[in-house]
Amino acid sequence: MNYEIVLATNNAHKLKEVREILSSHKIVVYGLSDLGLKPEEVEENADTYCGNALIKARAVQKLTTLPIIADDSGLEIEAMDNKPGLHSARFATECGGHDSAIKYILHLLKDKENRKARFVCNIVLLNVEEKPLLFEGIAPGVIALEKYGEGGFGYDPVFISDELGKTFAEASEEEKNKASHRGKALKKLLTYLKINGKAA
Ligand code: IMP
Repeated sequence: MNYEIVLATNNAHKLKEVREILSSHKIVVYGLSDLGLKPEEVEENADTYCGNALIKARAVQKLTTLPIIADDSGLEIEAMDNKPGLHSARFATECGGHDSAIKYILHLLKDKENRKARFVCNIVLLNVEEKPLLFEGIAPGVIALEKYGEGGFGYDPVFISDELGKTFAEASEEEKNKASHRGKALKKLLTYLKINGKAA
């Protein structure tokens, strides 16, 4: 029998990435809209990725007894004191969208030698064990001098993955899933589910 999980997101890109990794292991991943779930608006005001993921997961926990995964991630740029980090989504909104945020970042890093950055992802799993479980993935890289590639979303066109030697936006979905912060966190989650006989 397939193992069913709800992903606490309305982000179609994210749902696709997560499905791509989990569905070949007999796991059915539902998005919120697939189940008609409309969690209350929550403020992601924790001071950790894990705390924010938990806030999103808890809002969905009020509506279902199915296992729930929620993730929170961000881009940390060394030369910007590890910003935008936890506030990556807000940073983009305040800049007027990811395109403008990318332009602003490229401007800030114009004369900087250190272009090191990393994506961090925390995934929380609820409704399986008594306590929430946490899985973390980190993707190291550098900020490109300009945008490259058309794929992915968010900051992907300027994030050159150390592992891939190209931006996430230039990578195929399969390549990105292998090297990305979310892919790495999901692999840890998958290992946990396999060990516990919930995934093939
Ligand atoms: P979230 O917490 O996973 O929704 O991510 C917060 C923000 O981080 C997103 O709105 C994007 O700005 C950025 N982000 C997270 N993951 C990625 C990714 O895989 N590629 C590009 N940007 C990302």
